[in-house]
Amino acid sequence: TSAQIGVTGLAVMGRNLARNFARNGYTVAVHNRTVSRTKALVEEFGQEGDFIAAETAEDFVAALERPRRLVIMVKAGEPTDAVIEEFAPLLEPGDMIIDGGNAHFADTRRRERELRERGIHFVGTGISGGEEGALHGPSIMPGGSKESYASLGPMLEKISAKAADGAPCVTHCGPDGAGHFVKMVHNGIEYADMQLIGEAYQLLRDVAGYSPAQIADIFRTWNTGRLDSYLIEITAEVLSHVDAATGKPFVDVVVDRAEQKGTGRWTVQIALDLGVPVSGIAEAVFARSLSGHAALREASRGLAGPKPSPLSESEAAAFADRVEQALYASKIVSYTQGFHEIAAGSEEYGWDIDLGAVSAIWRGGCIIRAAFLDRIRAAYDARAELPSLLSDETFAREIAAAQDDWREVLTAAVRQGVPTPGFAAALAYYDALRAERLPAALTQGQRDFFGAHTYRRVDRDGAFHTLWGGDRGEVSA
Ligand code: NDP
Repeated sequence: TSAQIGVTGLAVMGRNLARNFARNGYTVAVHNRTVSRTKALVEEFGQEGDFIAAETAEDFVAALERPRRLVIMVKAGEPTDAVIEEFAPLLEPGDMIIDGGNAHFADTRRRERELRERGIHFVGTGISGGEEGALHGPSIMPGGSKESYASLGPMLEKISAKAADGAPCVTHCGPDGAGHFVKMVHNGIEYADMQLIGEAYQLLRDVAGYSPAQIADIFRTWNTGRLDSYLIEITAEVLSHVDAATGKPFVDVVVDRAEQKGTGRWTVQIALDLGVPVSGIAEAVFARSLSGHAALREASRGLAGPKPSPLSESEAAAFADRVEQALYASKIVSYTQGFHEIAAGSEEYGWDIDLGAVSAIWRGGCIIRAAFLDRIRAAYDARAELPSLLSDETFAREIAAAQDDWREVLTAAVRQGVPTPGFAAALAYYDALRAERLPAALTQGQRDFFGAHTYRRVDRDGAFHTLWGGDRGEVSA
């Protein structure tokens, strides 16, 4: 017998993905650099389905039916190149290598090009959902050729998460690096969601004066409404957890320095290159960086500023409702920014990404899964060429209803000295987009003054320069 699919790299992700394929009735060839992992998988889970354990690369490739489908689930970066170089010479034209790791989309573009020249389809595939998702159904974001998706799509649909309406959470995002790009922005949005939730928590704690357990209850309530999402759900779990050793809230015994693995940072770096303002995502990445500067924070602790003074009980409840509005409005803005980045990447690289389809596959399996994504899908369904999510009538109306509370919450945060970079960046973005005039006109004047960079006029076509050092007359540039 031969395997319909093979998985090499059997750490947490690869192992669970292989089991997911097997549990769905596929025969799966499994391989890992260190053979003991392969053996352990078959020993522990062999009864779950049909596995073919391969010790060598040659045995692994020989076990696959043609055209071969070979999934790589190894550490992103050089290990991925090393594994590709190990297997590519053993493959034949028409075979497919699927990279399910967290690769940078630029690496995926390079690998796709190199392998295409050798007749091999390289399918850079974003996979979200962590360990549990890989096993029970992740959200899957494949790129690569249409032909490869025709062959792989049905299998990926089978192992993927299903949205509430039963739709599989997988779509062919577009050619070459489109899938890894979409996964990158997914992770950027995830950073922003987590930061906004963190700010909501801190406001409820410091301004409203609630305990972590009380805040967990508030999040549970929010989770029954429009904020219904995996991240809100697990936030309530984390906040209600009590440390066994000390009896204190778990959140109070964890060191407050957030770590990161890099996909959020990439989202911001690429946004800078594309000129897309993803200020909310950037603030989320910077907030994690700032939290990690322990010495700087220690040295700054004595700086002047207000100390939050908690509200009365009745005021606190009203404030919590306002925070929900602020969180929801800020969330709309971070998704607006993230989808703008996907649209810009799609434009730059000619991917033709369907933004509605992307929002649909994030409804299940992935970390940012949320009822909210149904709304985004509806917005793109209603108008595929939506210039921005904020142009959608429903979102615009919801923000209009939320904005007074959003501003109130930020005012309280500023007065009481509670840092809320995510909420603030989101509101600044919203107000900047609304503005009739921006100070960019002044910026252009300054640039023309010191660098003769020229400017455009509101009343005439062409580029102009003012003779700042001379008689200040205006010349056509
Ligand atoms: P790791 O990223 O920890 O990678 C470990 C695996 O890579 C092992 O199978 C290891 O083999 C193999 N490996 C490392 N270097 C080499 C090499 N030079 N040659 C051959 N094999 C090598 O595993 P994870 O399961 O956590 O993640 C796999 C991929 O999935 C990563 O790209 C990750 O970013 C991505 N991912 C992870 C998620 C998660 O929640 N963990 C979620 C979504 C994506 P050996 O056993 O021999 O050391």
